[in-house]
Amino acid sequence: MDLRIGHLYPDLMSIYGDKGNVIALSQRARWRGIAAEVRPYSVGEWREPEWPDVWFFGGGQDQGQDLVGADLAGRNGESLRKSVASGAAIFSVCGGYQLLGTEYVPEVGAAIPGAGILDVTTRAGRKRFVGNLVVDSADGPLVGFENHSGRTYLGPKAVPLGSVVVGNGNNGEDKTEGAIQGKVIGCYLHGSCLPKNPWLADRLLQWALERRHTDVKLAKLDDEAELAARTQATEVAQARP
Ligand code: GLN
Repeated sequence: MDLRIGHLYPDLMSIYGDKGNVIALSQRARWRGIAAEVRPYSVGEWREPEWPDVWFFGGGQDQGQDLVGADLAGRNGESLRKSVASGAAIFSVCGGYQLLGTEYVPEVGAAIPGAGILDVTTRAGRKRFVGNLVVDSADGPLVGFENHSGRTYLGPKAVPLGSVVVGNGNNGEDKTEGAIQGKVIGCYLHGSCLPKNPWLADRLLQWALERRHTDVKLAKLDDEAELAARTQATEVAQARP
């Protein structure tokens, strides 16, 4: 088996250590003897948009988001929607998450149309949500930190990734965090997220490998260090909410 990762706009949307998510996916594949290749896809002509099994879309500044939004409004947004329809997975954080929705309305300037892949919509609020974020979900706990002014609201086609234990999550009102729709996940968990939330990393790895391979069974890894990092981050978050 081999794994193909498309890193979306790594030059514009990769803040707060979000590149660590690409490193975690690649490494958790390689530790299992699965070759992993990463290719960047940024503004302009995309070569082989049908190549990735999984895309990573990180966080960014408002000004980076309008450039990326404009790019996704063209042929690249269509290619990304086609890729998801053909079975590719996406993991997105913050600004990337917002741009996968229907639109992101920044505090200043015109609304930025999203790729319309997630049934969510976001509009900036006055107060930024900055701090540790602890989330509970039926599939396991998650921890990270958040830094966003966007308030994201889910439509009927998306379900929350989890519920907020510490922090604000999607909008600081409905206690939801993130969104899942098919094999697409969006969240506000910077950190980076996947290295210390191994169950989520392996969920994405499984989805990605199933696009081109059958009977995918991921060998169990020794996650002692990853889980210790999650425990430590969670304890800090709970001590200093
Ligand atoms: N500019 C967006 C917001 O503030 C996204 C920020 C980010 O990606 N961290 O909500």
